[in-house]
Amino acid sequence: MTRRTLLITGASSGIGAATALMAAPDHDLALHWNANATGIEDVAAQARRAGARVTTIRADLSDPAHVEDLFAAFDRDHDRLDGLINNAGVVDAAAPVVDFTADRVARMVAINLTAPILVAAGAAARMARGGAIVNISSAAARFGSPGQYVDYAATKGGLEVFSKGLAQELAPRGIRVNAVRPGIIATDIHAKGGQPDRIDRLGPTVPMGRAGTAEEVAHAILWLLGDQASYVTDTVLDVSGGR
Ligand code: NAP
Repeated sequence: MTRRTLLITGASSGIGAATALMAAPDHDLALHWNANATGIEDVAAQARRAGARVTTIRADLSDPAHVEDLFAAFDRDHDRLDGLINNAGVVDAAAPVVDFTADRVARMVAINLTAPILVAAGAAARMARGGAIVNISSAAARFGSPGQYVDYAATKGGLEVFSKGLAQELAPRGIRVNAVRPGIIATDIHAKGGQPDRIDRLGPTVPMGRAGTAEEVAHAILWLLGDQASYVTDTVLDVSGGR
């Protein structure tokens, strides 16, 4: 059987990296990254050892115009696309809304909402045989993240609404679209947002008493992408330990 090809944005660390490694035995992979060269080299090398044909694509998605470059690079090496994991994303420093700047909000919206919309559009245009898209939202879309990063929560809420509309639009073409809503997951994103202790602080407050792992989210993503979820579209799956 022909191996399916997945495009994963933000595959250089965390949830994207875990998903790439879990998918590698059964898929060919186009792995997107931006700043973390060591991370993507490591993920690509491990994925190749697991049997995947792997290409890596660098694009800074804080400028959504770079989405075109991402797909130009994809098209040079791949002639099919079966699945997209729309995963690249950022938080910013915890701050009340009254302290937000235009630059902060513009960057957040560009990376977490504009770019994923354009990446999904580019992916859908290439899914000639049908396919599946998983958009990575956040439990923040349910909570709003007051005093922390309401702008982040708003982009994830927007991504969920986009996901719903896209699922309806693409269903007749045999493309399923779903979202995953991770809760508190142990990755570097918290330290990047200036809160390296966030997992230790908040993990015990989760009903299940701990933070989740990137692999636990990857399992949910790959289930939604795969044939076992063949009748699942336009849904949001919480992977949040009951939070
Ligand atoms: P992570 O380890 O920090 O990974 C984020 C990824 O996004 C990295 O591969 C990074 O690439 C990429 N990225 C960041 N800025 C970018 C930019 N300007 N252009 C292109 N790519 C960029 O964090 P993670 O926790 O795995 O996050 C993955 C997704 O899960 C995000 O959408 C996040 O919002 C969501 N999420 C995470 C949690 C959590 O608790 N961890 C909870 C809910 C939702 P480079 O490092 O190579 O630049």
